[in-house]
Amino acid sequence: MLRESVRSLCEAKIAPFAAAVDEEARFPQEALDALVANDLHAVHVPETYGGAGADALATVIVIEEVARVCASSSLIPAVNKLGSLPVILSGSEELKAKYLGPLAKGDAMFSYCLSEPDAGSDAAGMKTRAVRDGDSYVLNGVKRWITNAGVSDYYTVMAVTDPEKRSKGISAFVVEKGDEGVSFGAPEKKLGIKGSPTREVYLDNVRIPADRMIGAEGTGFATAMKTLDHTRITIAAQALGIAQGALDYAKGYVQERKQFGKPIADFQGVQFMLADMAMKIEAARQLTYAAAAKSERTDTDLTFFGAAAKCFASDVAMEVTTDAVQLLGGYGYTRDYPVERMMRDAKITQIYEGTNQVQRIVMARNLP
Ligand SMILES: Cc1cc2nc3c(=O)[nH]c(=O)nc-3n(C[C@H](O)[C@H](O)[C@H](O)COP(=O)(O)OP(=O)(O)OC[C@H]3O[C@@H](n4cnc5c(N)ncnc54)[C@H](O)[C@@H]3O)c2cc1C
Repeated sequence: MLRESVRSLCEAKIAPFAAAVDEEARFPQEALDALVANDLHAVHVPETYGGAGADALATVIVIEEVARVCASSSLIPAVNKLGSLPVILSGSEELKAKYLGPLAKGDAMFSYCLSEPDAGSDAAGMKTRAVRDGDSYVLNGVKRWITNAGVSDYYTVMAVTDPEKRSKGISAFVVEKGDEGVSFGAPEKKLGIKGSPTREVYLDNVRIPADRMIGAEGTGFATAMKTLDHTRITIAAQALGIAQGALDYAKGYVQERKQFGKPIADFQGVQFMLADMAMKIEAARQLTYAAAAKSERTDTDLTFFGAAAKCFASDVAMEVTTDAVQLLGGYGYTRDYPVERMMRDAKITQIYEGTNQVQRIVMARNLP
């Protein structure tokens, strides 16, 4: 029922704008409005804080369905979870009450600030500093590649509180867009997910109350990694949705397109491609849903499953979307058809929340 209702909403209110959002590289406001109106913008927020209280699997299905029509728009529910999960996992009751309510209502979005210009895969090599000063912390530094930066009101920021201790000297904070000293870079000009703004976040002597720290001092990196264990599954869902959208489009096209006097769907070479695409998508779906169940239960093998689902589903998305372009021939290579957008959008799922090389490192360290 959830899938059916999200799908019909997406078809009616999000799909019609997906091409324009990509072409104009603009924020998908229509999608945000539709998602908020239907309480689908941050479904993971627990009911205690005014949220829909969706479990990890339901959240995955929402993201998958939005991504099936518009990958950029699927970053609204996905990054709202990514940005706020550190608060949900490790924040004080006060922080939860203060920040999750507006998120659940649709009055505010949440971003996640881990990466820096010189600290990507090696996130613990970050340089952003937070220095205690009385009842405040003062933050200075640059966060890079921050999804929905500028649009979001709230930012979970990881910063170094003790440079001697590397990952154990990193703490997490909630920073607000309106805090003095917070500013944003120009939107990056990207290959895909062009409707999702990606910008630098500048922290210039940002003074925040000490109770904005998420969890204890020195636990920020552990919280950031624990968060990714859960949210990599939402990226798997995004990849899965993009791949399903490409397969659905290609499946229809090959029945219409005629060459050699018959629909190209009649050629076994074409049928085998479609069969492989559907097979890979279903394998990715089963792994992603299994990982979501592990996320819900916080199973001990969650780290492996989160990395495996993200890595596998994103590789599938890249293969399937590339094959969808192939099945449309020259037409697939143009912006008159949606599959080239899906191919460009799929690429990012192999890169963010840790590249697929990094996922393989994570899996190797956590073999079942
Ligand atoms: C559109 C977009 C949105 C993003 N959104 C966010 C966000 O909201 N918040 C956030 O914090 N970050 C975000 N990121 C950052 C993203 O997570 C990083 O780009 C990613 O982790 C890779 O870091 P990097 O770009 O510095 O690449 P690098 O770490 O420099 O990696 C370059 C290459 O080296 C490889 N490599 C690095 N180390 C190893 C190793 N040990 N073994 C094998 N290969 C290795 C990588 O796999 C990659 O192929 C976003 C990025 C993009 C492009």
